Order: sequence, then structure tokens, then C-alpha cells
Amino acid sequence: MEYLLRDLRRTHYTKDVTTDVMGQDVTIMGWVHEIRDLGGIIFLLIRDFKGMIQVTAPSKKVSAEILEDIRALRKESVVAVKGTVQDSNKAPNGVEIIPSEITVLNMADQPLPMDPTEKVKAEIDTRLNSRFLDLRKPGVSAIFKIKNQMFKSVREYFADNDIIEIHTPKLVASATEGGTELFPITYFEREAFLGQSPQLYKQMMMSAGFDKVFEIGQIFRAEEHDTLRHLNEAISIDMEASFMDDEDVMKMLNEMLVKVIADVNEYRSEELNTLEHKIEVPQGKFEVIDYDEAVDLVNSRGVEMEYGEDLSREGEKVLGDAMDDFYFLTGWPTAIKPFYVMPYENKPEKSHAFDLMYKNLELSSGATRIHQYDLLLNQLIAKDLNPESFEAYLKAFKYGMPPHAGWGLGADRVNMVLTGVENIRETVLFPRDRHRLTP
Ligand code: ATP
Ligand code: MG
Repeated sequence: MEYLLRDLRRTHYTKDVTTDVMGQDVTIMGWVHEIRDLGGIIFLLIRDFKGMIQVTAPSKKVSAEILEDIRALRKESVVAVKGTVQDSNKAPNGVEIIPSEITVLNMADQPLPMDPTEKVKAEIDTRLNSRFLDLRKPGVSAIFKIKNQMFKSVREYFADNDIIEIHTPKLVASATEGGTELFPITYFEREAFLGQSPQLYKQMMMSAGFDKVFEIGQIFRAEEHDTLRHLNEAISIDMEASFMDDEDVMKMLNEMLVKVIADVNEYRSEELNTLEHKIEVPQGKFEVIDYDEAVDLVNSRGVEMEYGEDLSREGEKVLGDAMDDFYFLTGWPTAIKPFYVMPYENKPEKSHAFDLMYKNLELSSGATRIHQYDLLLNQLIAKDLNPESFEAYLKAFKYGMPPHAGWGLGADRVNMVLTGVENIRETVLFPRDRHRLTP
């Protein structure tokens, strides 16, 4: 049995084996999805990253040796099949391959730890334990094809708007915003942490004169809670822009998401169909509601909420029901937002901070930032943070920091919206949560 490719090469993906290549010799490579042996004829379904094709081996047309090779195959083994394309009204794509050569590149063990053919629905934990098999399912890989399109469109948007990509450290000496959501690590003889947000660094880049920056990278949150929308390692799409305010960057976030959704509809319609999900391209500007109005609305719908409080889960739900799918929540109380958000000039208890929501799911938080050193120092102290641990950051505000604004957008949560999955774990290849550190 052959295991090496040698001079064997794929000529076509299964999805490109169509009536266009009728009568031609092709070589496909992939996994054995199904074997049906009817005695006089054997049907094989071969699956690759892009689709599936039927290989038909009638005993009258193919050699005894090939029939024997096919009978020895086990499900999910990796094979190369060379053969001739012929039409077939029974095969799924209207064509099938009559094999002239079958090469087993790797035989799969049996039994499989889980069935990757989507015939049996497995629990999320079983699936994640054998994620490499789970990801072979078209209904699962579709989520990542859509995620790939999302990042492509996001990068295009940033490039079109002349926003520069940066990479900031994920090993950090102190908390971004204080708080307890930090993973401590040993950094030689000191304690350090995994970065919970690129916030302080992207702001320092404004003082560096980089004008507009973005970063797509991991954020680490040592949050104990175990929900369908939190992970302990997530991907954040962060943007920060000089000489702009909250309204300017809200507009950009709005435009970017409209582009992402339009592109996913245009280029990933097949995957949306696989997932049986529809997402309409939002028209015009996202709805905006001020925090004060939101409090009234939430109370009027029977969920108690005091001015100054963060939204409870119940509050998010009733608000989500009352608003358009996408909406901005603005004018947050300064006290429950991070120290770096800009308070209103004439009403400092409210701030230029916003959240972008999709129904009851928070997608993004952003704000006009404080750019004045003295005010920033005051706010740090007001939040009981130690200015000394922020020395390197504060320094950037003393020598020419421009006014600026920005946001952080949870990429995995946007992917939930795009694909319609309800558990954030579905949108991450190898999710990290309260209980899971492997695979
Ligand atoms: P939440 O209130 O939902 O816990 P947050 O306000 O703590 O979120 P931010 O610090 O504002 O989160 O982070 C910006 C964005 O990053 C969030 O709007 C969200 O989309 C995403 N995000 C934050 N924490 C997580 C997490 N633990 N898992 C997945 N995504 C997250
Ligand atoms: Mg937030």
C-alpha cells in the first residue's frame, strides 16, 4: 500500500468535478465519507474541504485489484482517486468518477471517536474533544469560512480607510483597566499577566502619531462565569483614531459591519445555506439610544434598573426586543465605564462611551478617550487605580497626545451573529473556557 504522494497530485477539488470535465481523467484527494458495497457495484463518497463527489466502481468496469482496495478501506481514511468523469443522473453532482487507481494515503482507525458525517448529532463537549473530526463537517467548517470572509472584509475596510495594522504585546506588566479579570503568569523572576485588551497600547500609538491604527488579536479574560457568549481567550478587533470623537468612530464601526454582512452574503451564500441562516444587510445608520432612555425603557418593560447600573442580562433582553437588531447604546455613566473614557464636559457623571449591541448581545464597546494628562490622572485615582502602575502609559499623554476615539469589537461574537450559532464555542477552533484547556 502506498502512503506517499510521490508524483501524485490533485487535479481538481471535488466541487470542480462537474459536467465541464466530462470524459476527462481527474485526480481527487480527500476523506472516505461513505462506502456502500452492493456486491456488483461499490459506491464511495469522497469528501474534501470544498465538497463531495461520488466514485462508482462497477465490477464489470474496474479491476479486481481496485475493488479489493475499496473493500479494504475504512471510513475517514485519506485517499487519492484517479479516474474518468462520466455523467450520472443518480449522483449528487450529476457526475461520478469511475476509478482507475486508488491510493490509500492514510488508513483511519476504527471505531471513530465521533461520527463526522452529521448523521448523528453529538453534544458540544464530545465534539470539542475530537474537534479535528468535528471540523470535517461542512456545517462546522462553514462557520470558519464565514469567519475568514469576515476578517478579509474587515482588513479591506481598514485598508480602504488608510488604517494601519499594529501588533501590541500580549505579555504585560499590569492590568489594562484594573479589575480581577487577569491571568497571572511567571515572567522570569517577576509576575506578569496575559493582556486583556490592547487598549493602552493603541492609545499610546495615537501619541506616536500613527493617526489611525487597528489590531486583530487575542484578548485574555480570567472571567469565572461560564456563559454562551464568554470565552477566556477571544479575538478582538480593535481600532483607535486620532482627531476623531465617539460619533466618528461609531460611524466607522457601522460602515464596517455593513460591509462585512454584505460581503458574507455575496461570497459565502453557500455556507449560509449550509447553516440555514439568513442575515440581512442593515440599511442606513444603526439606531441609537441614550443610556437614560434605555433605563426608562427597561423599567417600563417590567425589568427593574436603577440609573447608574450596568444592564442586567434581563435588561439586555428587553432592550434587545424593543430595538432594531443592531443599535448603539450611548451616554453611559462614567462610573461604570473604564477610567480612560471621556466624561461629558457639562455633565461629568455621563460619558462619551458607547456599546454596540445586536439584540441582547454586546458586540463592541468604544468611546472618545481622555487625552488630557491631568484629567486622566484624576480619573485613575477616582477609580482607585495606582497611577504608578500606569506610568509608561501616562507618559504618552504629557508630550502631545491628540484627541482620539476608538472601539474594541468581539470578533467571535460578530461571527455568532453572521452564522446564527448560539454558543460562542462554535465560532472558535479550540475554545478556552472555564473548564477547557485542551485540545
Ligand atoms: P461583557 O459585558 O459582554 O462581558 P465586556 O464589556 O466585559 O463584555 P469589553 O471589555 O467591552 O467587554 O470588550 C470589548 C468586546 O470584546 C465586547 O463587546 C465583546 O464583544 C468582546 N469580549 C469581551 N470579553 C469577551 C469574552 N470573555 N469572550 C468573548 N468576547 C468578549
Ligand atoms: Mg463592554
